[in-house]
Amino acid sequence: MQEEFASMQRQPFPAAAKIPPLSLPSLVLNKAMMESSLILPCAHCGQLNRVPSAKLGNRPVCATCHQALTGGKPAELDPERFQKLIQRSDLPVIIDFWAPWCGPCKMMAPEFAKAAASLAGKAILAKLNTQDYPQAAAQFGISGIPTMILFHKGREAARKSGAMQAPQILAWIQSESSKA
Ligand SMILES: [Zn+2]
Repeated sequence: MQEEFASMQRQPFPAAAKIPPLSLPSLVLNKAMMESSLILPCAHCGQLNRVPSAKLGNRPVCATCHQALTGGKPAELDPERFQKLIQRSDLPVIIDFWAPWCGPCKMMAPEFAKAAASLAGKAILAKLNTQDYPQAAAQFGISGIPTMILFHKGREAARKSGAMQAPQILAWIQSESSKA
């Protein structure tokens, strides 16, 4: 009885274990770190920011709106900022395609935010609401949500569908980044 009660109480996403520090070896180091500075578009306002690579780890913020450029709460994109982010960012960009009516999307949202915080200085994570902007989802042939797409230098490098916890999201990003 005790065991049955315990399993009934189990949450779909148990409190996440502490996320280990993550390194994104090739994707970031190969190219971006060799350059003296990187272009980081602000996912919140669209401003293009130039950030010295040595300062990437210091929680750089947008010159215009002062929000975190990487590592902060994932921004809700509109199509214009979405295009600018994936086309111009020197860091890998991971977009969570979601919708308010999608239960698994809502369950994944805090996990995606945790992953974003863990990837400060290494990647930019942002969200695109496919109910508000269905044409953006159609452009990438999104047939089910949540779907994450990893973009690098304007091109799709990988995609993954289905709700995931933060450690799985991080493992997926790390695995795909090491292939690039
Ligand atoms: Zn901004």
